[in-house]
Amino acid sequence: MLNIVSDFIKSILPAKKKTTPSGWTSFNGVCCPHNGESADTRGRGGLTANPDGSVSYHCFNCNFKASYQPGRHLTFKFRKLLKWLGADDTDIKRLVIEAIRVRELVAPEEVKAEAEEEKIEFKARDLPEDAENLVAMDYVHPALEYCVARKIDIAKYAFYATKQEQYNLHKRIIIPFIWQGRTIGYTARAVTDGVKPKYHSNYEPNFVFNINNQLADSKFVIVCEGPFDAMSIDGVAVLNNECNETQADIIESLGREVIVVADRDRAGAKMINNAIEYGWSVSYPVWLETCKDVNEAVVKYGKLFVLKTILDSKQTSKLKIELMKKKLYN
Ligand SMILES: [Zn+2]
Repeated sequence: MLNIVSDFIKSILPAKKKTTPSGWTSFNGVCCPHNGESADTRGRGGLTANPDGSVSYHCFNCNFKASYQPGRHLTFKFRKLLKWLGADDTDIKRLVIEAIRVRELVAPEEVKAEAEEEKIEFKARDLPEDAENLVAMDYVHPALEYCVARKIDIAKYAFYATKQEQYNLHKRIIIPFIWQGRTIGYTARAVTDGVKPKYHSNYEPNFVFNINNQLADSKFVIVCEGPFDAMSIDGVAVLNNECNETQADIIESLGREVIVVADRDRAGAKMINNAIEYGWSVSYPVWLETCKDVNEAVVKYGKLFVLKTILDSKQTSKLKIELMKKKLYN
């Protein structure tokens, strides 16, 4: 069982290969042209498979690396490698599910080690000086009224505001970004009209908002664009209209079904293209006809209805996702 992934990848390696006594199998790298390098003809790609079921690939021509270890999820990079080696989508999907099963078998401590091993880290960054928690203030800051109007649960999420006029911070609601228990930045959204830009932010790229609030036993995670969308249904936000590969790996490390709900604007189609690339589900809930994003729908129809419609309208087939995208976004 633990060797399912490594056995599979060994079975699809190119016919022309050499194995050294140390267990390193070398062959022409299958990655190079996909990474902007010329094709490898000198056998510079190599795979090591260990008895514990772990496997790693490294190409000395284009420097592409991908690895898998039982208890971890199949990363996007590893799935790309499988594809370049000739695996079809059905096999890859099956292995993704097997990897989740394996994860349930191995000790929880090993799973916990995953985050550390993938070494995705963000540097600590402070909130603006004199930022105060909204609910602890002795007067009603417009930011608090803004939260209430957008139906965000202020008992669950912490918000801040400041009197600082730099960047018009006094007219903004400050949303802290938390990674592994530490504050690693924030975004400050305008709460009154005419304040530009709408968001003033300070954080490292690749961050995924609200990962820290995902329940351990949830079967799925809903991916949105903006932080208010994410907070209104307890999903995560990529803070952009595209989801890059590092963000995809962070989201997939949760080890559950990923469902994307894109905004109803032209840029939303980009998120859907990403979802197709990563093999995720996409939902096209009925309210997309009348609401531009998740938060607007929650304000109009309530959280439970919006969650239910997202789950009821999710598509897993690539073909259907493409067809609906054309219908709604062209
Ligand atoms: Zn390569």
